[in-house]
Amino acid sequence: MPDIKVPEPISGLKFIDAHCHLPFPRPKKNDQLPSDEEQYREFFKSGGIYLITSSIDNTTLDLILNFIKDKQKVGFTCGWAPQTVTYTPKTQYKGNWDKWTDFITNNKEKFLAIGEIGLDFHHAQTLEKREKQVSELKKIFEITKNFGKPYVLHVRNATEREYDRENPKHRYNKRDGATKEILNIIKEFNINPERVMWHCFSGPDDYGIILPKQGFKLSVPSSAYGNSRWRNVTKNSPLDALLTETDSYYQHPYLRGPINVPSNARFSIAAIAYSHNVSQELVSEKTIENAKKIFNLDLVD
Ligand SMILES: [Zn+2]
Repeated sequence: MPDIKVPEPISGLKFIDAHCHLPFPRPKKNDQLPSDEEQYREFFKSGGIYLITSSIDNTTLDLILNFIKDKQKVGFTCGWAPQTVTYTPKTQYKGNWDKWTDFITNNKEKFLAIGEIGLDFHHAQTLEKREKQVSELKKIFEITKNFGKPYVLHVRNATEREYDRENPKHRYNKRDGATKEILNIIKEFNINPERVMWHCFSGPDDYGIILPKQGFKLSVPSSAYGNSRWRNVTKNSPLDALLTETDSYYQHPYLRGPINVPSNARFSIAAIAYSHNVSQELVSEKTIENAKKIFNLDLVD
């Protein structure tokens, strides 16, 4: 383990993984992940009390439906990720989209939330691709706004290197271009911020204060344990706004590559306790409470 100044998670901590991808198509190279079943077992053995997995398209939706059908204390959020919008071949898009919207409309009792959905201007670097993500996102809100479900957002702003050179003055080419756009859309569709979680919240820093003030919830990835940048974006956010997640198999607490597992959500707790200078027990209690509330989890021990 590298030299990290954040104390390790204490033993006996309870935690929720509010966002991971289990199962997910296995890494193509260098697959060091335990089996899906092992990851699930290990999660509860190490203190996990509820696991929330997330689909991003129809393939991952099918994997998840099959995986959770005989399992307890696991739920999922049903998503159409911005990467899915950008990378699905044009010829397949409409068929896939129709299948997904049909599922969400007719199976509301099966999922906890809509997501991950959002904007990713790292994966979409031209105006055309960004506008496509925006228009698809609006369609999702239009279809789902009366479902009574919370939302899980994936929001990634473009870095300066990723600005669209053809349209340099466009509002998307800002450090908070995607963030601002999504806030406008949420307003347009009258979505309650208290029912919106920003998964793997990545800043900019000032939004770690601005968003909770509006009622939004922010989820801290396990990688915040070893990476101060991921800790700093939420260091000034109130504990009442924070949840814990792994986003596994990425975002390992201190290693790079596709090797993260849901039981590492306890490292998010250690990271928050350190950045907020409070006990891990308190963070555990608060983040569980916040997750139960937004996802409407009925957890009796
Ligand atoms: Zn994710």
